[in-house]
Amino acid sequence: MKAKMSQQMGDSHRRFLQTMMGCAVLTGREAESLLRYCCEAHNTQYVPHKLDDFINTINSKLQPLFMQIRKGMCEDSGEQCYALVNMSQSDITRMSSDYADNELELFRKTIELIVGSENGRISSTDILNSADSLTTKKMKKSESEQLLNRLVNDKWLNENQGEYTLSTRCIIEMEQYIHTMYEDQVKKCQICHHIAFQCQICDNPACGIKIHNPCVARFFKEKTEPRCPACGEFWPHEIPSVHIDQLIREIIMFRSSREVRQSRQRGLRRERLFDLSTQMLFPHHS
Ligand SMILES: [Zn+2]
Ligand SMILES: [Zn+2]
Repeated sequence: MKAKMSQQMGDSHRRFLQTMMGCAVLTGREAESLLRYCCEAHNTQYVPHKLDDFINTINSKLQPLFMQIRKGMCEDSGEQCYALVNMSQSDITRMSSDYADNELELFRKTIELIVGSENGRISSTDILNSADSLTTKKMKKSESEQLLNRLVNDKWLNENQGEYTLSTRCIIEMEQYIHTMYEDQVKKCQICHHIAFQCQICDNPACGIKIHNPCVARFFKEKTEPRCPACGEFWPHEIPSVHIDQLIREIIMFRSSREVRQSRQRGLRRERLFDLSTQMLFPHHS
């Protein structure tokens, strides 16, 4: 007989936690697949969409160890992600076993530059220049470049065409630290209320609210004229399209609802996207 996915910490929970310890961050979809895998591997009944309950059970055991699996949003895709977070150290000293003091100093400067930037991204040149003012121990240009590569490999930073952004893992782990350090500079997204780095900003100087790019895409998707949700001024920025993962999720919800039968009149676009998403999610079922 299969055991139920319960409040009790079982082997499936332990397997899940072990895997999370090995990878810095999981997307919601990866976490759901992992949940399924862990349940099947340990003969536990798998119940879809109970991921958060399952994680809460693990978190209750992690609390005395000052650890927690925490949820956050990927600023690129808008996807929910999960990271295993060390709560005992709120600042970046949590990284001191892997990085030297001057490396941590440069990482701190990098965070500072990103927080102070308009859209949450800075160039490698800006980071390398700031390495000149290190007080702990000077670094050569090549050493700074190596450090940036390591920070990307360890999933603290993302790099795209010479520009650096904070990774999802970094945002989930360092949110509290960043709030404490840069209280006056950081802003929350007007839509999802999480800390916002890569975002669009209202042009009205009296307003200046921030909205994450994926939140912009979702919020303005069906609006004929985009207006700031806070001050009502026209929203002049280009509206990004909703990320494919988001679309897949919406389409699955759409399909599983009773609207399925009425969907035929709505044209072929959603049908095609659904076929595409089914192939991506269930490659063997085509
Ligand atoms: Zn947002
Ligand atoms: Zn505004």
